[in-house]
Amino acid sequence: QAAPYRADTPIAQLAPWLADPVKAADFPKAVLRFRNHRWDRAVGLSGLSDDAWVEHFARFAPLPDNLPQPLALRYHGHQFRVYNPDLGDGRGFLFAQMRDGAGRLLDLGTKGSGQTPWSREGDGRLTLKGAVREILATEMLEALGVNTSKTFSVIETGEDLYRSDEPSPTRAAVMIRLSHGHIRIGTFQRLAYLESRAEMAALIDYCLAQFPGPPPPEDAPGRHEPAVILLHQVVERLAQLAAEWMAAGFVHGVLNTDNMNISGESFDYGPWRWLPAWDPSFTAAYFDHAGLYAFGRQPEALHWNCGQLAVALRLVAEAPPLIAALERFGPLYQTALARQFLWRLGVQSRGFDADYALIARAEQTMREEALSPDAFFHRHRFGRQAEGEFATLLRDFNPVGTEHDLWQEDRPPSLVVDNVEAIWAAIDQRDDWAPLGETIAAIRRLGEALGPPPRV
Ligand code: AMP
Ligand code: MG
Ligand code: MG
Repeated sequence: QAAPYRADTPIAQLAPWLADPVKAADFPKAVLRFRNHRWDRAVGLSGLSDDAWVEHFARFAPLPDNLPQPLALRYHGHQFRVYNPDLGDGRGFLFAQMRDGAGRLLDLGTKGSGQTPWSREGDGRLTLKGAVREILATEMLEALGVNTSKTFSVIETGEDLYRSDEPSPTRAAVMIRLSHGHIRIGTFQRLAYLESRAEMAALIDYCLAQFPGPPPPEDAPGRHEPAVILLHQVVERLAQLAAEWMAAGFVHGVLNTDNMNISGESFDYGPWRWLPAWDPSFTAAYFDHAGLYAFGRQPEALHWNCGQLAVALRLVAEAPPLIAALERFGPLYQTALARQFLWRLGVQSRGFDADYALIARAEQTMREEALSPDAFFHRHRFGRQAEGEFATLLRDFNPVGTEHDLWQEDRPPSLVVDNVEAIWAAIDQRDDWAPLGETIAAIRRLGEALGPPPRV
């Protein structure tokens, strides 16, 4: 979907109380390592030469008619359920805003662009390995039909970084993220903490205008109040996102409220993993000792985060209509999960009970055979000679279209899970970027075979 470049910076109206103008770090080098040619077209920036690209996305020369200076956004958040009023963009900023072909707002944000007033003791930097992991996560999630931010670019900066969990020194990069906004649940929590009523109302209006969604159900109490409308939309989006992660076998790892985008996009990829085998207790982050954000607890974590948004919105709304919105999460999640599973299997729904019997059997099969969702879906979606109880059950469901024939490769598409260390070793030891490029190409072929995901 090619579109002309169209700058539009509605954030400027909120900036006096939402953000601080900042300067990017002055990097010793700027070597372009990844440029997203699918998404640079979608926002009208495909015409930039690589040199001009680096000027904008490593040196941060403003884009035409765009923000005159990058903005570090202010926010708070619950980290592992502990409230932290000392957060904010500590190693990133909002660099530019524009409209896509459909008129929707898109932000270009950064990670690793230098220190800000919110860096605390941090260096404001991103490791090149972290940037490579973010490319792999976003590409794979996009292919698997997950509503995710996109990795727009990665540029190596020539700095040496010291990290306790990496061999030192390790290489540095700056990453550009494309997403529909960077307003987080934690952005609302900060305004509630400060009791900033007028600003809260303005932020709600901003979200309703910039991330439009359907109205609440006919019978929802308070359904014309802006705060209530917003909570309904966020509950809908995050229930959908939870279902998308579960059907993708993806473990995000750090579901803190400052990592929850109001737009419903998944973002901020740190210690993510894909499940090696179906296991609800599988935990991605080594520092998540209690398993709070384990694979099977992700829906519950997102529901809890919606609850924190509701608590913040209490500043400007009564409790009962907010509670009514929160109560929709469970049923919305269940419907969405069935939709995602059936999409991955390439079959049509046969109604709630039959669909859930199929899902229960799928989970049981994956657990008993220690299969990753990836391997399991590959076998039953594209493998023509699948056998066993699950295959028998699946034959009662009608296939959608002829997509079963599109995927020609024998291997299950567990490219990301299996290869990330090998991809990184090739880059770090030999400066060989081919394995990363080949993996991205294979992931994109998988995405084409699966086709667009179902959306309500
Ligand atoms: P995260 O756990 O990645 O969501 O980050 C939590 C907070 O720490 C955010 O405010 C980040 O901006 C900040 N942060 C993370 N890493 C760094 C870093 N290397 N330098 C400065 N701030 C950081
Ligand atoms: Mg974060
Ligand atoms: Mg992070």
